[in-house]
Amino acid sequence: MTFRNTIDFLASCIFTKRCRFCNRVCDVRDEICSRCADDIHRIEGEICNNCGCNKTLFNHKERKHFFESICAPYYYEGAPQKAVIHLKHKINPNILTRLAEDMSECTKERYKELEFDYITYVPMHQSDIKQRGYNQAQALAEEISKNLSIPCYPLINKDYSTKSQHILRGVYRTGNLMGALSFNKKAGIDVSDTRILIVDDIKTTGATLDECAKALLYEGCAEVRCVTACIGTKNKIPEDDKKEKE
Ligand SMILES: [Zn+2]
Ligand SMILES: [Zn+2]
Repeated sequence: MTFRNTIDFLASCIFTKRCRFCNRVCDVRDEICSRCADDIHRIEGEICNNCGCNKTLFNHKERKHFFESICAPYYYEGAPQKAVIHLKHKINPNILTRLAEDMSECTKERYKELEFDYITYVPMHQSDIKQRGYNQAQALAEEISKNLSIPCYPLINKDYSTKSQHILRGVYRTGNLMGALSFNKKAGIDVSDTRILIVDDIKTTGATLDECAKALLYEGCAEVRCVTACIGTKNKIPEDDKKEKE
């Protein structure tokens, strides 16, 4: 064993480093394991404000949302998907802070001309928080709030527990939420004429974010933008279709 290898070996015994996406133990010098390294699905290129996906790789039939625009660092696939699933099950400080950093960077980059008055997040019902232990959207929002020095408040209430959104098909999603989300007057914040950033972990149809945006706009908020860790890829144009068009 060379001197360099000995140092590395000793270091790996003392400090265990875990992958920032899947939490597997990985090489102490890296923060991404070899499996995740080739599986990072970044959202790049020209991006559609309405759905947050690449303009040419996706179809854009999604209805116009109540929020002005959405951005996210990743698509909900591969390594970032693993990270979000990890967060749903339990607080993992490393995965949480790294995803929040990526979301903060994405916000700075995509919304560089905009100033936000407040950050808020997609709420969870108290009974669901009790079951899971925490609200991952809130945890991400609080980190982003620190990173960007924008105050974060619980501006939206979840008045009753709804069936988990992901088990319902798109058409039922909006109906499932109707009336469940409302403005949280108890936060004591006047949102009139403000610009607010809503944080969540994933955007699929955007129905939940829309309901949150509606609750804020109804209270006089001037503009709502969103940031999530990942965006679902259901509107991705299949490779075969693209070839046919070429
Ligand atoms: Zn990994
Ligand atoms: Zn779009």
